[in-house]
This record gives sequence, C-alpha cells and structure tokens, in this order.
Amino acid sequence: MKKVIMMLTGMMLVASQNVIAQNNMKLSERQQALVAIAANEARGNITQLKVALNDGLDHGLTVSEAKEALSQLYAYTGFPRSLNALGALQQVIEERSVAGKSTEAGREADPLPADYDALKQGTRVQTQLSGQPFDYQFAPQTDYYLKAHLFGDIFARNNLTYADREIVTVSAISALEGCEPQLVAHVGGARNMGVSDEQLHEIPLVLRQRVGEAEAIRCFAAVARVFSEPSAATVQTVDFSIWPKGEPNTAYAQYFIGNSYLAPLDAEHGGPVNVTFEPGCRNNWHIHHKQVQVLICVAGRGWYQEWGKPAIELRPGTVVAIPAEAKHWHGAARDSWMQHLTFHTHIEDGASNEWLEPVTDDVYNQL
Ligand code: MN
Repeated sequence: MKKVIMMLTGMMLVASQNVIAQNNMKLSERQQALVAIAANEARGNITQLKVALNDGLDHGLTVSEAKEALSQLYAYTGFPRSLNALGALQQVIEERSVAGKSTEAGREADPLPADYDALKQGTRVQTQLSGQPFDYQFAPQTDYYLKAHLFGDIFARNNLTYADREIVTVSAISALEGCEPQLVAHVGGARNMGVSDEQLHEIPLVLRQRVGEAEAIRCFAAVARVFSEPSAATVQTVDFSIWPKGEPNTAYAQYFIGNSYLAPLDAEHGGPVNVTFEPGCRNNWHIHHKQVQVLICVAGRGWYQEWGKPAIELRPGTVVAIPAEAKHWHGAARDSWMQHLTFHTHIEDGASNEWLEPVTDDVYNQL
C-alpha cells in the first residue's frame, strides 16, 4: 500500500512538472505554420495557404496532420473553405513532388474500438475543453452535433493532438469576423487542452507577422480577455494619416501577402491612387511593362526593392520612379503601416503588369 501511495505521489510530481514545463513551452516552427495554415483556410486565401503549407511541410508537419487540421476546420469554417484548402494541399504535395522536395506522409489515425461511443467520449472531451459540462438545450440537435460529431468523431482521431487542434481552431476563428465569443471560449479551451500560456500569447504575434492585422487584433483581444490582461492590441493605426485608406484591395489580393487598401484620388481624371499596406503586407515581385510606375510615400514606413538590388526604405517624402521592365516589389515594414501614392507615366501601347512569385519571408525578414 505504502508503495502504491509513493508511486502515486511520484506520478503527481511528474504531472505537475509537465504543467510547469508546458507553461514555458513556445510554439514550434511546425505549430507557427499551423497558425498561418488555419487562418488562411478561414480567409480562403489559397495563395497564402500554399505558402504556409509549404512552410509547415518544411518544418516537420506531415501530410496526415495537415489533412486532419483542414478537415477539422470544416466544423468551424464550412465545407467550401475546407474543401478548397484540401485541394490546395493536394496541389502543394504534387508541386513538391515535381520539385523533388521531400514530404512526410505521417501516420494515419488509429481505427476506433468497435464499442466506441462517440456521444459519450465527445461529451467527456467537450467538458474538459470547456472546463465544465455544457448542454445546449435550446437546440438539442446542435448539442448532439457538437458532442458526438465534432468532439466525438473528429477529436477521437489521434493523428493530431488536442493541443494542436485548439491552436488550429483559435487561429481560424481569429480570421472570422464577428465570432469573438467563440474565439474567447477556444482560447480558454486551448489552455484546458494543453496549449501553454506562452504559446497562446504567441499566436496573435504569428498572425500579425504571417496573416494580417485584423486577424492579429481579434486574437490579441481574446487572449487579453482570457488572461485578464490589458489588451496588447496597441497597433499603429493609420489614424495619424491625412490620406484616405479607401477600400480593401480585393482585386489584387491574390498578389499580396497581408491586407492592403486602395483609395483612388480623382483617378477617373488621371489622379493617383493611394495604397495603404498593413504592417507586414507587401506585393509579389512584379513587372510594369512599357510604363514607369511612380511611388510617393506619404505615411508610415516601408520598402521598395528592385531584383538583385538592396531594398530602399520608404518614408514620407520618398519618391521612386520604377523603370519599365524592372522586376520589383513594394510594401510596409514589419512593424508599421505604410501609404504610398502611385501613378504611371511614359505609358506606351500595350502597357501591362506581370505578377510573379511572392516575396518570401527569407527575403522580407532580413529587412
Ligand atoms: Mn509596382
């Protein structure tokens, strides 16, 4: 008996040490990629999703885990987003195979025991995640779907840990507008499922760096609420600028990393367009054929870089006339918004824009 008690005490010590270790645990490269994967799945940004998937697969994420994360997300973002993201994963695997890059398949989930009771197990998982029993009596069918299907069928698959599942869920909901109550609940749920406090504080930082400012701000606010901290969402806004921000740049979003906005200024009479870049936002490498593009930085701080040349810092007052046929990119600094006016001159017949590959983190993060 004494021996049993000693063993139990020993196990409890080990358990409490694990908790302490976990609270100092940081997000791995693989988990940082999962953050960007989940948020871009939710945004439906396939270009950036593929960048994030490649990053994950380069840092120990397996195909089985990526597939599992994107499948789970259908419960949060709907089948259209989930299926498009799975299609992107399939493309990435094919592209990596052609490029001769190694991609780890990973292990499949173990089959469930014959007597597996999804409702019973799902109720247990949901109670652990919520910290208390949860019954949605107003809509019993939804209560059943949450317990038996989401936390029963899906969470029972053991090719992704509960902690990773919650990192994925928090990141995806951060990319959904108007889901703050669910986001707060899942930040709390993530703590109950083994995500460390430090990791939770890192998620919004990764979102800011790799996804977008709006996603980061939502996540900062939810984390601050769960930890009863003053909100860390102290961002440099464009409020200081006298120049308009305009509308989200949806037309060219596929050629940008991060969010940007366009404000045409009397453009129908030939005036310039004011472009606003969120911190970290930049456009892909591109070429303006048979025309010169002029950039006039009017607010914040950013970069202009021509292929093979050092980047030029853009500050209010910096003017760059980009030669025709020069491959280049422009965008904000990592920690600052940036606005530049732009217009084209020396426009010849057949002038056009050619969009090329994204500016990778390797290049951008050196600045
Ligand atoms: Mn340009």
